[in-house]
Amino acid sequence: MEKVAIVGCGAYIDQGYGCPGEWRCLKAAAVGEGKFESPAAVVSFVKCQCPGRAVVPSLGMAAKLSEIKPDKIYLSSCLANAVPKCPYTSAEDLAGVIKEKTGVDVVMGTHDYH
Ligand code: SF4
Repeated sequence: MEKVAIVGCGAYIDQGYGCPGEWRCLKAAAVGEGKFESPAAVVSFVKCQCPGRAVVPSLGMAAKLSEIKPDKIYLSSCLANAVPKCPYTSAEDLAGVIKEKTGVDVVMGTHDYH
């Protein structure tokens, strides 16, 4: 089973609109729906926090402390498809930085649930 890390938009998560801390990303990973081609093990869930500078170090720390390097890193749907957009970076740029710094492929989005 693929091991994945998920990065959610903390500015959105903290507003509590049924966001990743609840179930959507986790269900999609568990049952293999949305952007997951098959069920995947979520080995870390990192919350981006404005202005986003801590994402890469947080992913690194999660991998170090858990002793599990993810096979892929997913940007949550609330981050990848944000409306209004993130004022600090584009999801594409953030994905590029994560890929460059970690060497792990980044997938844009996690689920299609509402
Ligand atoms: S920097 Fe952007 S993606 Fe990160 S928490 Fe803030 S608004 Fe969300």
